[in-house]
Amino acid sequence: MNHSNLIRNSKFKIQNFAMNLIIFGPQGSGKGTQADLLAEKFNLAHIETGQIFREIGRENSELGKIVKNLNEQKEMIPDEVTVEVLRAKLEVVPIDMGIILDSAPRTTGQVEPIEQMLAELARTLDKAIYITLPYEQSVERITKRYACTVCYRHFVLGNHIQELNDPCPTCGGPIMQRGDDTPEGVAKRLDTFYKVTIPVIDEYRERGMLIEVDGSQTVENVFSEIIEQLEKK
Ligand SMILES: [Zn+2]
Repeated sequence: MNHSNLIRNSKFKIQNFAMNLIIFGPQGSGKGTQADLLAEKFNLAHIETGQIFREIGRENSELGKIVKNLNEQKEMIPDEVTVEVLRAKLEVVPIDMGIILDSAPRTTGQVEPIEQMLAELARTLDKAIYITLPYEQSVERITKRYACTVCYRHFVLGNHIQELNDPCPTCGGPIMQRGDDTPEGVAKRLDTFYKVTIPVIDEYRERGMLIEVDGSQTVENVFSEIIEQLEKK
């Protein structure tokens, strides 16, 4: 029996003392990089919903087909699908390991079901991190963004990779610009973030759980500011 089943089937809730975080930021804010750094420092499982859905979209399953279709039409994944997919990922994370949820909850409708699901897994959110970045800077950064065609990791031109012919720093595979990083694709995703996700961030701010960091700084400075604020309380 794995940990989560044990907790679900037990009358007694095991208190989890590992740190549970969520991280928000518009595209290009570097939140994925910060989530990776935080995951390493605090031994957290980095749960990135976008990545998970891209993986599922490549599976030849019923859910895979639905997700692939929605992805192709650039439509939002329904909230209940998001919650169930997240649950499946989180259930297998050991209870003594914290988590960092990247890009979820993405809509106000996901806040309650995700927190409810976390509670069922004996997890409570400690902090929400918001990495801010002006709209124009997002656009500028995204157009410099490339992905590996083998392991699908993202890299920034001039940062992780210096030239377009450079191999993937992780697996050595060839890299290319993401197909939806056109000006229209970028604008659509940024608009969705500001319209749909900002109200979620506002909610965490009102609850006094929000750490806000200026994402136009260097990766190192953003990271040390997050750490400083996390250790404050
Ligand atoms: Zn790779």
